Amino acid sequence: MSYSNAEELLTAIQPATGGTEILDPATGELVGRVAQGSVSDLEAAVDAAHAAQPAWDALGHEERKRLLNSAADNIEANAEALAQLLSREQGKPLNGPNARFEVGGAAAWLRAATAYDIEPEVVVDDGETYATKHYRALGVVGAIGPWNWPMMISIWQLAPSLRMGNTVVMKPSEYTPLSVLALGHILNEVLPAGVLHIVAGGRDVGEKLSSHPLISKIMFTGSTPTGKAIIRSSADTVKRLTLELGGNDAGIVLEDADPQAIAEDLFWGAFINTGQTCAALKRLYVPEAIYDQVCEALTNVAAKMPMGVGLDENNVLGPLQNKAQFDIVADLVQDAVDSGAKVLLGGNPDLQAPGYFYPTTLIADIDPQNRLVTEEQFGPALPIIKVKDVEEAIGHANALETGLGASVWSSDRQQALAVAARIQAGTVWINSHGTIDPRIPFGGAKQSGYGLEFGLDGLKSLAQPQLIKG
Ligand code: NAD
Repeated sequence: MSYSNAEELLTAIQPATGGTEILDPATGELVGRVAQGSVSDLEAAVDAAHAAQPAWDALGHEERKRLLNSAADNIEANAEALAQLLSREQGKPLNGPNARFEVGGAAAWLRAATAYDIEPEVVVDDGETYATKHYRALGVVGAIGPWNWPMMISIWQLAPSLRMGNTVVMKPSEYTPLSVLALGHILNEVLPAGVLHIVAGGRDVGEKLSSHPLISKIMFTGSTPTGKAIIRSSADTVKRLTLELGGNDAGIVLEDADPQAIAEDLFWGAFINTGQTCAALKRLYVPEAIYDQVCEALTNVAAKMPMGVGLDENNVLGPLQNKAQFDIVADLVQDAVDSGAKVLLGGNPDLQAPGYFYPTTLIADIDPQNRLVTEEQFGPALPIIKVKDVEEAIGHANALETGLGASVWSSDRQQALAVAARIQAGTVWINSHGTIDPRIPFGGAKQSGYGLEFGLDGLKSLAQPQLIKG
């Protein structure tokens, strides 16, 4: 069935009466109502997913690929309704690298999970010994997601899981359940009954999922503290884990970079989704020689980017998704201002206006140890730190416990590569930041998590390797 707008889609996923109200973070208006799942709903979903798994696995790769591609077709057929709902619930604008982009990305990543063949690999074949490696389904995968890219990240978790013959029970963030329920509804119009379950609920439901004996693996994206809690609660059942956790990505500008040429890409590297992105550029290190030029070029780009209600086609930046995140950003910026750092742009939220809007903020001349630098702001406030040379920048970049992504900005590729090799991060981008690709594996270093998503590595991580000798 095809839904022409968010209201039609909402009628398909809301309870007939009651439920928890979800409010638009830009306006405070009602978006819709969600039926909160309990721990017993979660248990019923796990049982159903467990019962459905053998038949789903038995369909084989080609049939699962066909079904996943039809599910991607159904996302595309309902793209505008999904984007409207996502924009209203999450806050992100329809345009720019936001809601329509996210729905398009969800379809693209779903198709990407069908793009590889998984064949048995011959490990030894020397005339005497013959051994092969096979990738078997794990069983039921539990998926737990955040509120910043709710549709895209749900697909990152469920698409490779389903492709490899697993069934899935997913718990969306309590801040953005409608987006995930709507996406699940669209997918389930195509998928066989029982293979994909979405249970909206709180922390208790997440805890139960990550300790449930019938769950073989948890795909988790969210904060580092929650990732540590999941490691603990999954320990008794020795679950496999892919943990995509928090980041505080450094960008390092080299002296030969052209400030005008890099300014717009620097901006989007930091401010995509209004800064609420795991692998956004969250601290920028710039050498003295070009510090003022970079600050000026970035300020000129940032000042032109319209922020406002997501459904207004002109906007490319939106509100913070929730009050708690607004308070984190406001507190960190205030701390920087109190320390004597210089506000180049923003830093002055209108506390009387509706919505959790925090203005696009650039902070210069900031102490490298200031909390706005060392803690994850996860919002539209970028600290620009002056360094004397690249050695100092690398030292700061590697000093934190996180290591999701990083970037190096230079006109000299060889020099950029040499710097990249010394940065402790799962991905280093050269002259861009956060430009993920479904063919390129993605995962964190240090306390940003472990395991890889995307590409062939991502598919294999949703399988049990089995060696056969003989
Ligand atoms: P969060 O950790 O607060 O919540 C994530 C999910 O975990 C939610 O669904 C929540 O209900 C659930 N949860 C909470 N406690 C739980 C527990 N004890 N057991 C099981 N589940 C539990 O994260 P958030 O605030 O939604 O997301 C923001 C964070 O996520 C940021 O730190 C960001 O960097 C990170 N993030 C990382 C990536 C990545 O790919 N590395 C992507 C997006 C976001």
